[in-house]
Order: sequence, then structure tokens, then C-alpha cells
Amino acid sequence: MGRIAKRKRWVCPKCDDGLLAPSKPRMDDVRRYCLPCSEATGRLVQRTCLSKDRERQVKQEREAAKRQRTTVAKKMKRAKAAAKREEERITAKEEEAARWIFGGVNLKEEAKRLVKLKAWRGAFHLSDKRCLHARWSRIKPWKRIRRGYFVPDINLQIRRKGTHTSGRSYGGRIAMTLPAGCSAARACALLIHELAHEALPRNVWHAERFWLLLFEAAHEAYGADLAPCAYSNNGHRQDALRDALKEKFDDKS
Ligand SMILES: [Zn+2]
Ligand SMILES: [Zn+2]
Repeated sequence: MGRIAKRKRWVCPKCDDGLLAPSKPRMDDVRRYCLPCSEATGRLVQRTCLSKDRERQVKQEREAAKRQRTTVAKKMKRAKAAAKREEERITAKEEEAARWIFGGVNLKEEAKRLVKLKAWRGAFHLSDKRCLHARWSRIKPWKRIRRGYFVPDINLQIRRKGTHTSGRSYGGRIAMTLPAGCSAARACALLIHELAHEALPRNVWHAERFWLLLFEAAHEAYGADLAPCAYSNNGHRQDALRDALKEKFDDKS
């Protein structure tokens, strides 16, 4: 059963005379041309296939609509992905912020407040030589800022096992490890302890001078009344500081 190509109507645009021909006649097929009009004008006059033109138009419209649909779908997909990313970014930001809060005190904010204490005698002020020294390793000389306060980078780790706290000062950088749910008093006592190390030369370590400075700063920041000579060792001194801060934060732990 041979398939006969469907015939289309080809019409001359000049004389409206038409005939039936295949939808795709060869280029030299005489049915493509209106011979009387060609003769009259001296140029080949082509017949046009209206249904074919219409089909083409419908097809073009359909494709345009499809393109539009895909563009809209793509735009919506992109907007959705952006919204999701934004949401994740906010959640991550909130989680990161929540990590720093102990007993209602944000340690990052507390560090910003503590570096401004008068007790440090400007050790964290950016114009201070001691402070610049801490920044040399990380900031290019022409980028060095001389106004405001330097807040050491704090590397905070949350201890999963055990309840003790530990800290270390590296000169411009502090590492702290706190148990999850640590009280504000313990967290702040450790933070100000490490800041006191940052404010003093490395070789001072836990000498008398260190405790004098730390207790002076704690007095200024938290109203703690402590004297190093009242305690027999460093452990007792840090415990006394923590206990004094507990009162300040009204902490039961
Ligand atoms: Zn014609
Ligand atoms: Zn120490």
C-alpha cells in the first residue's frame, strides 16, 4: 500500500489562480510557478501554499510558546534554588551565631567588649606597638589599620565528651574548647584569661604579673574583687575568677 503524499493547494498571489500539488514539489517543478503571470511580468511568479504557510506559522507559534514555557520554568527553578540557598545561608548563619552563645552571652561580642578594657592599657588598641606586633604576621603593612581595637581570632571548639574547659593564646589568635551548654561564667572566665595572655608578652605566662592584670581586668569587666595573693596556686585563682563571674551572671551551675 503506497502512501500518496497529501496534496496542497498552491495559489498565485497575483491572479489567485491555483492548483493542487505536493507539499514539497521540486524547485524546478512547473506547478510552483504561475506561467501566465510570469509571462506577463517577465519574471518567475511563484505560487504560495497557504496551508503550508499556516502550518509553518502554527508550528512557529507552538515553538515560541514552548520556549516561553521553558524560560518561565527555568526562571522559577532558578528562583526556587536561590530561595533555598538563601534559606540555608540564613540557617547556617544562625547556627554559627548560636554556637557562640553560652548562658545568653555571645562570646564574640564579649571579646569585642573586653578588648576595650582600660586594664589592658591599650594592648589591643591598633595604634599600640604590642598590638601591631600581633598582626604583623597576617596583615600587610600598607593595610594595617591604626584606629580602633584588635579582637584576636577565636577558634572555638565544642567538647562532646567531658565538661572541662581549655584555652590557649597564640598571639593574635585564641583557641578555646568549651563543653556544650557551658555556663556564661566559665566561658567568660576562660575568655578573659586568654585575653590577659594576649595582652602580655609570651614569656610572662602565669607569673604574678599575669594574675594581677587578669584580676584587674575582671574587676573592670565583671566587678570581681579578687587578689592573687589570696590563693595558693593558679588553679585556685582561675576557679575563684569563675566563681566571682558566676555571681555576676547569677549562674547556678
Ligand atoms: Zn498568476
Ligand atoms: Zn593561662
